[in-house]
Amino acid sequence: MTKTSRRDVLTAAAAMTAAGIAEAAPAAAQVGPKPIFPVPMVTIPIVGEKEVFQVRRIYCVGRNYAAHAIERGSDPNREPPFFFQKPTDAIQNVGAGEVADHPYPSLTKNYHHEVELVAALKSGGTNIPVDKALDHVYGYALGLDMTRRDLQNGMAAEKKPWEIGKSFDHAAVLGPIHPVSKTGHFEKGAISLAINGTIKQNSDLSKMIWSVAEQIAKLSEAFELKAGDIIYSGTPENVGPVVRGDVLLCRLEGLPDMSIKIV
Ligand code: MN
Repeated sequence: MTKTSRRDVLTAAAAMTAAGIAEAAPAAAQVGPKPIFPVPMVTIPIVGEKEVFQVRRIYCVGRNYAAHAIERGSDPNREPPFFFQKPTDAIQNVGAGEVADHPYPSLTKNYHHEVELVAALKSGGTNIPVDKALDHVYGYALGLDMTRRDLQNGMAAEKKPWEIGKSFDHAAVLGPIHPVSKTGHFEKGAISLAINGTIKQNSDLSKMIWSVAEQIAKLSEAFELKAGDIIYSGTPENVGPVVRGDVLLCRLEGLPDMSIKIV
């Protein structure tokens, strides 16, 4: 038996087994064996488009504004920003003009807001040069990197992974994506967050230590970036707690506002 024919036999056997267990997606959309249960695709609406942006991975930049790095206890002159990830299905889409209910998560007593620019990639690669990096950006959105700060700090103090503080359900709040073709790239511009009408965070994208182009270049040294990856660019200073009933208003010069209510 040749290698090819053996693989054909195995594929056919697997397909028969799966077909006997469950009906999944329509046959036309199916490549290979059918899954035994459906898992929803994670997508983000695109302003002005009928098509949606399918999400592959969520990357986040930590301590990308000097004043925030200092408030988190590090020296931005000695410690560069860094990356972490959130699970793709942590995304909570928030429509334009909507005040979306955002559930206060379990386990925390110190739940923090972090307003951030988010870049969405249409392509990727490895070792992408800075001067080519923005060619991979499809569009931009306004996001909130919601954080169970007490859990993050507790794990950090024990030199354990932060996961439980950053990577939980609904932790990646996101407005719709605006294509670069309509907005251009975001290298400067006011970014702010208000709670119940009082400004809490207020800075400018030009204060990011790593620009979006530099974030893509750095990330691509560690991971192969691909279409569908999104990058939370880091938050400016004055992160702080929210409680149930608070209404958060996020603003980024050049994009519509994004708003959630903590419930
Ligand atoms: Mn963040």
